[in-house]
Amino acid sequence: MNTAPTPGPSGPGPPLWLLLELTYRCPLHCVFCYNPTEFARTGAELPTEDWLRVLREARALGAVQLGLSGGEPLEREDLETIVAEAHRLGYYITSSPRAWGSPPPVSPR
Ligand code: SF4
Repeated sequence: MNTAPTPGPSGPGPPLWLLLELTYRCPLHCVFCYNPTEFARTGAELPTEDWLRVLREARALGAVQLGLSGGEPLEREDLETIVAEAHRLGYYITSSPRAWGSPPPVSPR
């Protein structure tokens, strides 16, 4: 596990919390949705390797807590890979899945 840097007396300190909006995809259609609803105009999602790099770089900066959001994070086919790397890096992980009409949740190991 990485050692997080300590905040300086005059600065705001390291980014402690990282929130990944993994996808805009979601099986629900809430009228109040804050995500882009025209998915075709949002472009491609960040590939797995880029998310893994973000995890490592943020951890090196001192991030300790990871939130997985979207959209529906369970729509990502690589969610298990992302969670496994986050776990390996020592993040405290939370998620906000709706888990309605989505693929089965990732099974614990
Ligand atoms: S569950 Fe969240 S992401 Fe999905 S449509 Fe509703 S507000 Fe949008």
